Amino acid sequence: MDVQAWVKQVIRQEEIDKYLVKGKDFIDEKKIRTNLEQQAHPDPQRVRDILQKSLSIKLLTPEETAVLLNVTDPALLEEMREAALEVKKRVYDNRIVFFAPLYCSNLCVNRCVYCGFRSDNPEEKRHILSPEEIYRETEAIIDEGHKRLIAVYGEHPKSDADYIADSISTIYAVKRTTPSGNGFNNIRRVNINAAPMAVEDLRKLWRAGIGTFQVFQETYHPGRYAELHPANTIKGNFRWRLYAMHRAMDAGIDDVAIGALFGLYDWKFEVMGLVEHAHDLERQFGIGPHTISFPRMQPAPGSFLSENSPYLVNDDAFKRLVMVLRLAVPYTGLIVTARERAELRREIINYGCTQTDASSKIGIGAYAGKKLQEENADKVQFMLGDQRSLDEVIKELADDGYITSFCTAGYRCGRTGDKIMNLLEKGVEGKFCKLNAVLTFREYLNDYASAATKEAGERLIQRELQEIENTSFFTDKKLLPTFFNYYRRIAAGERDLYM
Ligand code: SAM
Ligand code: SF4
Repeated sequence: MDVQAWVKQVIRQEEIDKYLVKGKDFIDEKKIRTNLEQQAHPDPQRVRDILQKSLSIKLLTPEETAVLLNVTDPALLEEMREAALEVKKRVYDNRIVFFAPLYCSNLCVNRCVYCGFRSDNPEEKRHILSPEEIYRETEAIIDEGHKRLIAVYGEHPKSDADYIADSISTIYAVKRTTPSGNGFNNIRRVNINAAPMAVEDLRKLWRAGIGTFQVFQETYHPGRYAELHPANTIKGNFRWRLYAMHRAMDAGIDDVAIGALFGLYDWKFEVMGLVEHAHDLERQFGIGPHTISFPRMQPAPGSFLSENSPYLVNDDAFKRLVMVLRLAVPYTGLIVTARERAELRREIINYGCTQTDASSKIGIGAYAGKKLQEENADKVQFMLGDQRSLDEVIKELADDGYITSFCTAGYRCGRTGDKIMNLLEKGVEGKFCKLNAVLTFREYLNDYASAATKEAGERLIQRELQEIENTSFFTDKKLLPTFFNYYRRIAAGERDLYM
């Protein structure tokens, strides 16, 4: 099938209409504007009442979110930051989950004006990884110490659902022997960031063992969306994208990840859009988003807009938006990426983030070796703000009291979707996952840590072990003996034991 014929058959109108409520979208521009305007001067007591609601791990209403978005008083903002961090502690404790991005293809039929991969960027050299290249990339990512990755694809018939499903299988097949030779390390969870798909295609990804399906709406403002995504492209269809996660849920993928590309439009509007999205998923499926991302637009080769948008978000606004998202959707994971500068990333973790990446390379084929990296230096989508190694970032976090987690047990034990939402809301998941965080951190310290990271990590892990030993949280009496047994076996070289 040629490219144009393929493009014409991607969108299925019935898979949009199905999710409209009385023919309407869950994004109502007028309603969002009215909420933001009516809450323009927040009463401090109202703000404090809303913070109490967040602390009881309840999704805030759009109106309550608008109140928080309009706070500018520094003392109140500090109270919000403290509450945001407390929410994070209650739900996720002091864990930070790590992943690596794996860019598989920069072939793309769309023309998003902010992206280096857009089809009308003549400077972009195109490449799609072969299965062998995906294999080599995965080996290099495992050798950094990673256990989960997010594979990223442009939208193109050559990187269709079959290609994506095959790449998931290839990634899962890669195994690397541990330094002790006792076991092997591998990627235990493959998440996907790709274009919206039809239910039939999403089922192929589900069968291949996808972890989370991630699609960013880019902007929730329909008018601005139309300006940035030409109408005669697939991505030009706002609604096809808006209901991507609804279709994923119907396909059986219940860990879905939403996001907005901050810098395309008014940041307060985008936060309102994300919260409306969480509400609609809860309304229609009983499950909110597994994670929310808030990438800030970075300079992209050949894109004028990426550096000159009137809506670029400065650091102060960025901190506020992360804090409000933490408070508004208390159970969700929040992802801050290596797009951000090192010092800002370190700070933003304290606003309630739960996941991040490191050692990231976003060129196509950029992990596997110097030669491929040099050849593909011009195949990047945008510029990264923080190029530090996983080891450096883990050490910094350990010094700050955060334990790195490579845990992927939840999804392999069926703790996804509504089951995990329940545990998160009750604060159980945070405590339970701490056990798996310690087990996977032990693996990392043994296999990959530098001397300095080992030192910082050992201090932290001893503290954690002490805390676990003293906890009275778990009612199942067999749980802690099993945990300590696993811990000793992992320290002796066994791998991939989880609770
Ligand atoms: N092609 C798929 C799509 O558009 O959904 C997935 C891959 S695309 C490379 C992944 C994400 O990169 C986009 O959703 C967009 O938010 C983000 N992105 C694009 N250009 C960017 C830029 N200049 N800076 C930061 N992020 C960008
Ligand atoms: Fe293609 Fe995605 Fe980039 Fe748009 S954002 S040009 S769809 S890769």
